Amino acid sequence: MELGNLVREARTVEDWIVELRRTIHRKPELMYEEVETSALVRKVLDELGISYEAGIAETGVVATLGDSNGPCVALRADMDALPIHEEADVDFRSEIPGKMHACGHDCHTAMLLGAARMLKSREHEIQGTVKLVFQPAEEGGAGGKRMREHGILRSPQVQRIFGLHVWPLADSGEIASRVGTFLAAASKLSIRIEGKGGHAAMPHLAVDPVVASAKVISDLQSIVSRETDPLSSLVISITSIHGGEAHNVIPEEVTMRGTIRTLTSAHMAEAQSRVREVAERIASANRCRAEVEYPGEDYPPTVNDAECWRLAGDIWKGAYGTESVNESPPIMGGEDFAFYTEEVPGCFVGLGIRNPDQGCTFSVHHPKFKVDESVLPTGSAMHVAFALRSLAELRAGAPGGA
Ligand SMILES: [Zn+2]
Ligand SMILES: [Zn+2]
Repeated sequence: MELGNLVREARTVEDWIVELRRTIHRKPELMYEEVETSALVRKVLDELGISYEAGIAETGVVATLGDSNGPCVALRADMDALPIHEEADVDFRSEIPGKMHACGHDCHTAMLLGAARMLKSREHEIQGTVKLVFQPAEEGGAGGKRMREHGILRSPQVQRIFGLHVWPLADSGEIASRVGTFLAAASKLSIRIEGKGGHAAMPHLAVDPVVASAKVISDLQSIVSRETDPLSSLVISITSIHGGEAHNVIPEEVTMRGTIRTLTSAHMAEAQSRVREVAERIASANRCRAEVEYPGEDYPPTVNDAECWRLAGDIWKGAYGTESVNESPPIMGGEDFAFYTEEVPGCFVGLGIRNPDQGCTFSVHHPKFKVDESVLPTGSAMHVAFALRSLAELRAGAPGGA
């Protein structure tokens, strides 16, 4: 089935897909709190007569279609929103102050429900199994890891998995991704610098954690600029710093938070170890004590399988031409789709939604982030194409087959 035909079919249910997206958009829910979103997913699946397992990793849902006789392909959407107050120019703006679907996971969920509807209408043609994965907590909660640990990639064993992310770096009508590492490994970082508080006018009687913290922050950047191969990628960002309350008091301690990004897990382990060492020693040279913590939920790099990205490109080119497939450089953003591709071959694909005519130019995680909704049916069609074409290839003995 050609993508062009599937897109035409998806356009006949475009209003339904867009309405689902807007319903989810109005009621954003943060990680592991996707109660209403999950209930909506289950309601739609019930209406479509698709069976599913719910309550996985709190709010996750996995639906299953097909004759369960043959290969198995999974399609994934995430459901969580962000703690951002929406300022986008749309009339279906978030109704919950301080929460917003600023990463487009509302679109992902609606597109996968669109695919569910299209796949159900041709279920008799599906030789094999299609799993539809609706997961919680992509934004830092490692929901994908918990879904995987629950065993959603097994029984039947998933042979390929695909995920679509609305992508403001590409224009509507384009896709972007690459073979190999597409998105970075990500680690949260917390540092506490402990000194000795005192009067700001008598610093010699105190041990100042503020000055020590300033030195730690600036020296951490030397790990990037002086210790890392310039052709290798490392980001260390301190994103939060807090210490003290008054003009004239040297505080007892300073706390900092941040993130580390690398393109390989080995480089991440090295960077974490050097960050700890540098923070501890700089603090100690300044008579302070540093405690460095990696609070967990680290994401591995998202590594795309060559065959899966080739298939995505082939499908897309068939409808939109060679120029519409962007070979992207790796991006230092993280994505918990990585937990799936650690175990099975797959591909994470950026679905272009940039459209300056509609004001869709802001990046994800921006309070004015806005999506070109005309792309949503295309996303549903692409999911269907991923599933049907992969099942056909796997039945014919393509790599990734049993
Ligand atoms: Zn995000
Ligand atoms: Zn996202």
